[in-house]
Amino acid sequence: MKKIICDYCNKESDNTTEYVLPDYVTYEAKDLKGNILYKFASSNEMHNVTKDVCPNCAKKIIGLLQLVPRVNFEEENKIETMSIKW
Ligand SMILES: [Zn+2]
Repeated sequence: MKKIICDYCNKESDNTTEYVLPDYVTYEAKDLKGNILYKFASSNEMHNVTKDVCPNCAKKIIGLLQLVPRVNFEEENKIETMSIKW
């Protein structure tokens, strides 16, 4: 059976599932030789990404998704300013 690395916990699993999730677009800054110097995520541009997710992380994602209607950001897209209404 083919083992795949979970994109969230980086553990090897033979029971991952591919999910399509939203994510911020990530850009890479490279030097003249093409070596990646650093990566940064745009806070304005989103796209869909396919992630391999193990069952343990899938349960965590499901739980977090249920919080989405209760989440508020004081400053847009800044997780440091996030609050959850219980
Ligand atoms: Zn995982």
